[in-house]
Amino acid sequence: MSSISALHAQLTSGTKAVITTHFNPDSDAIGSSLAWQNYLNQLGLEVSVIVPSAVSANLIWMPGAKQILNFENTLHRVQIEALLKEADIIFCLDFSSMQRLHGLSHSIKAARGIKVVIDHHLNPEDFADYYYHRTTAASTCELIFDLIQEWGDDACINEAMGSCLYSGIMTDTGSFRHPNTTAHVHEVVAQLIQKGVNTNAIHRKIFDSASLDRLRFLGHVLANRLDYLPEYHLSLMWITEEDQKQYNSQAGDTEGIVNYGLQIAGAIWAILLIQRPDGIKLSFRSIEPFAVNEFASQYFEGGGHKNASGGRFSSSSIEGAKEKLQEVLPLYLSEINRVKNL
Ligand code: 5GP
Ligand code: MN
Repeated sequence: MSSISALHAQLTSGTKAVITTHFNPDSDAIGSSLAWQNYLNQLGLEVSVIVPSAVSANLIWMPGAKQILNFENTLHRVQIEALLKEADIIFCLDFSSMQRLHGLSHSIKAARGIKVVIDHHLNPEDFADYYYHRTTAASTCELIFDLIQEWGDDACINEAMGSCLYSGIMTDTGSFRHPNTTAHVHEVVAQLIQKGVNTNAIHRKIFDSASLDRLRFLGHVLANRLDYLPEYHLSLMWITEEDQKQYNSQAGDTEGIVNYGLQIAGAIWAILLIQRPDGIKLSFRSIEPFAVNEFASQYFEGGGHKNASGGRFSSSSIEGAKEKLQEVLPLYLSEINRVKNL
């Protein structure tokens, strides 16, 4: 593993690069990838962004998003394989565990290009040649901003790039309310605003762009798919495949729903179970200082950040996942009570 500063010299004109990010890419994943692509293009590199699954509709406005190649789109597959074969450098953004690439992981592992991780998730895996990794960063977008500045290229940060960066910073900090919102986050945002980023317009594009179906879907989940377990200070939510069909749920439509669980007074954590054909996807959110990533990794093959994690349950039965929860929740009672009394 080498120092990231040595990488700068390798970013020369004509170098072929691929940027990839995690499955179900969120605003930080897409925002950091497109901003980094914009920067590398300015340095003269040939750069493609390849994602393991579709970009959600509320992110398509980002400059460059329409050119992103999606591994799940069979029409893109041949081009993706060719680009990965030719790539001199592969940038892995906003993830540092290969399993988060799902079906794309095999092709990335097999590619000959050097690998560079830029990420802020805990416990990065050892698969890359270069790492720019800080768990104290609230978002990968913040890291991209910092790295470009470290390399003395602040002038490259233009408004288009800044809009992408702001998007990831805004969403990964929960619109500046999560405990990861440091003074540095606000300093970065201040500089982005000075570069012309319209923060209000971006907030509306990302959050106020729902379909009527999406809003009704949210209403249905809050009305019929939410339980509160007072002894565990836990909001438990679930979404069935049938629900998703009924409300014509699109990529990204379940994003953010788990956070509603934390709005209940006294809630320390919230769990959302989403039924998928290959199993249940779990989302976990918690308030400080409850480390929900430990729970996710211990019982649901997952992990993530201290207060925002994900995981999976291998059968696609919601009831099965709830039973598993009922089994393991008592083991966490003392930790929950400890946190409650702080
Ligand atoms: P979400 O609930 O939004 O899907 O995920 C919350 C956070 O947990 C995200 O920052 C995501 O990166 C992380 N995460 C989601 N699923 C997994 C997983 O299976 N393993 C790990 N290590 N992190 C995950
Ligand atoms: Mn992120």
